[in-house]
Amino acid sequence: MIEELFTRNIRWAAGRTRADPEYFRRLAAQQSPEYLWVGCSDSRVPANEIVGLDPGELFVHRNVANLAPPQDANFLSVLQFAVEILKVRHVIVCGHYGCGGVRAALSGQRHGLIDHWLQPVACLCRRDAAELEAITDFDARVNEVCERNVLAQVAAVAANPFVQDAWRRGQTLAVHGWIYSVQDGLLRDLETSVDGAAGARRLDGRRRAPPPPRRRPRIEGPR
Ligand code: ZN
Repeated sequence: MIEELFTRNIRWAAGRTRADPEYFRRLAAQQSPEYLWVGCSDSRVPANEIVGLDPGELFVHRNVANLAPPQDANFLSVLQFAVEILKVRHVIVCGHYGCGGVRAALSGQRHGLIDHWLQPVACLCRRDAAELEAITDFDARVNEVCERNVLAQVAAVAANPFVQDAWRRGQTLAVHGWIYSVQDGLLRDLETSVDGAAGARRLDGRRRAPPPPRRRPRIEGPR
């Protein structure tokens, strides 16, 4: 029942206040997060919880397949506000293994409007087709594209004029590429961080993430 959510909300707010009487007063007073999170809409990847931060500590933008499209007014509004007003110090692009959006783009099948949204991922799949086809297991191929997509989105954020202008002004700002596993709840750094225009140009020339040194988990089924 949908009404149950209001009951849960009352319980949650009371619990928070019991644990920390100043919690909501403090939150209401200001928002000064150091981080902008660009993640997937997937319900299993709750940004704040994964990194153990309270609301107010992480500015969050989520969409299907954690994209940073240079023509998306929603994403651009969030990015500009985060960089120019909140002055976040870190932009974290976080993908996740087994991403349904990546899986849809890689499948080559038609799904409707989402195919337009996922076009950058489909283009990436076509660009790297030869290397991807060498990976025979489809789930492993999906995971490879999940990683490559994060790298591509880090490059897109780093090339964005709001970010480039921030660096030109001397603002402290780094862009990071991470990936999350629903299987074990752990984040992995794809070691593609960039904190200035020179680094962004280097990223542009790279085609893929460095091979992940850690074990990559087997992935759950499609969703
Ligand atoms: Zn996803």
